[in-house]
Amino acid sequence: MDTRTGLPVVGMVGGGQLARMTHQAAIALGQSLRVLARTPEDGAALVAADVQYGEHTDLAALRTFAKGCDVVTFDHEHVPGEHIRALAADGVRIHPGADALRCAQDKAVMRQRLTELGAPVPRWRRIGSVDELAEFGTEVGWPVVVKTARGGYDGRGVWLLDTPDELVAAGLDPAGPSADPAVELIAEERVKLVRELAVQVARSPFGQLAVYPVAETVQRDGICVEVLAPAPALPQSRALAAQQLAIDLASALGVVGLLAVELFEVPGGLVVNELAMRPHNSGHWTIEGARTSQFEQHLRAVLDYPMGDTGLTAPAVVMANVLGGADGGMGIDERLHHLFATDPGAKVHLYGKQVRPGRKIGHVTVLGEDLTDVRNRAARAARWLQEGR
Ligand code: ADP
Repeated sequence: MDTRTGLPVVGMVGGGQLARMTHQAAIALGQSLRVLARTPEDGAALVAADVQYGEHTDLAALRTFAKGCDVVTFDHEHVPGEHIRALAADGVRIHPGADALRCAQDKAVMRQRLTELGAPVPRWRRIGSVDELAEFGTEVGWPVVVKTARGGYDGRGVWLLDTPDELVAAGLDPAGPSADPAVELIAEERVKLVRELAVQVARSPFGQLAVYPVAETVQRDGICVEVLAPAPALPQSRALAAQQLAIDLASALGVVGLLAVELFEVPGGLVVNELAMRPHNSGHWTIEGARTSQFEQHLRAVLDYPMGDTGLTAPAVVMANVLGGADGGMGIDERLHHLFATDPGAKVHLYGKQVRPGRKIGHVTVLGEDLTDVRNRAARAARWLQEGR
């Protein structure tokens, strides 16, 4: 509790853009997010007043950080489960808990839990040898998707293999000379993607749930470039099924806070791809596009406040990620200038990151009546910031 304001202190482990945007939401709730950052250059450390420095893998640093926090939560899933358990045993309110979070930390654990829960998943198997991959591929058909169980993001740690030999060629043979025993692999059938969808749901310790409209996520080279909300032309029955699935998973896994469920739409229905237990890139559209942003909702959920309204604020909402581009002779400030002159309605969020090609440095959101128009404007705004033209 902050004795000056009488309001709670939420601590977020990790100082990236998610903490930065959660801090922004915390301000409106009268709070100031406490952040455990690694360096003063971290996106949230640049803007929050209450910052501590330390590693998320250092239990002593986590314990010091947790002192005086009403609740501790995360901007990523890399805090070791045993540390989360140790903090909980100390009496720290920490959300989501270690058991729930395991399903967002490890794709093999997640697939196993979802299979047990009867949730729709691609056929999958843990792979410990080239022979096991060969057998799996024969069963489900090639090509096969191979993933590292832990540590992948933005398509890193995901390979599409046409033959078992490609596992060796990719340096992933679990029995090979360069094999890292800490790397566990899973194989999945390649599902026939119609498109990719995402649903955000928040759950409080009390058990209240609030689900957002289903969004479509558009990926390029394994990176999400665009999110469209609501997912265009999604039949209502399928949208409801996706929302129900997210609600059921949040409850069954005991998630507290935000859960992002990434889904594949396939010809016969829906398949779960991945889970994230924190605000997520696929929910950035909610800042302007929903009555309550995912960041505020995450804070409400971990604090056991009643949930906010998840309704849309416009018929069409498009979020486009801004990736670091080539400099092109024009700095980001000048690009922003041009973009604001071109489209006064585009909402810009920059994360305070150094520009590196391909790195997510911000996003833009456009709202409106007509999806095609909104989509074009969002793409143009992102391009301005990326390429200066
Ligand atoms: P990351 O953790 O890096 O985001 P994902 O598991 O989400 O990795 O996979 C990245 C992308 O690869 C997905 O967005 C999807 O386009 C594609 N993909 C992943 N799994 C499958 C699958 N089983 N079938 C078809 N495409 C897949």
